[in-house]
Amino acid sequence: MTGRLLVTPHAHPAWPHTHAVFHLSDGRQLRFADQRRFGRLWLRQTDEIDTFTGIARLGPEPFDPAFDAAHLEALLRRRRRAIKSCLLDQSLVAGIGNIYADEILFAARLHPEQPAASLSRAQIRRLAALIPATLAKAVDDNRVTPEAFLQGGGTEYRNTPLLRIYGHEGDPCPRCHSALRRLTVGGRSSCHCPKCQRPQSENRR
Ligand SMILES: [Zn+2]
Repeated sequence: MTGRLLVTPHAHPAWPHTHAVFHLSDGRQLRFADQRRFGRLWLRQTDEIDTFTGIARLGPEPFDPAFDAAHLEALLRRRRRAIKSCLLDQSLVAGIGNIYADEILFAARLHPEQPAASLSRAQIRRLAALIPATLAKAVDDNRVTPEAFLQGGGTEYRNTPLLRIYGHEGDPCPRCHSALRRLTVGGRSSCHCPKCQRPQSENRR
């Protein structure tokens, strides 16, 4: 969540909380800085079967071509859980965190608590397209040169002002100007627009 992998010139001063440094063959360094220590590092033999990192249990990446509407529909069809909890389940799709789950659900006009199985085929199709599109835009918006990033100690990386929903409780919805609301879904704080993201209980498939 907070850890950073940095490729730096050899002589670059170490950031605080740098826990691991790899010396690359071209003279640069790959450093791992992690203030909150959520990160893990494993050293494993080339032929060793990975039964411990959990990587094998991850679902597909949102940018994987195999991650399409048919795939998403098969994943969600029988799940009564809230759609937001499903998006955060890394065994279903890898790499969506709390912030971008809110942004994606807003873009898709889905209430975070809507049961996944109640989504219509059209909603799933839209969601499957909006997941990679929202993430790709975020990557683009946060582009910064490696030099600027290192110079600023990572402070250039501030995505919050670019977010439309997350952290904007009480602010006007960018679409309809209703006040955005916060609720807790699966133990995670969630922001949504009560008007654009109305809950739908009936199965409209
Ligand atoms: Zn709205």
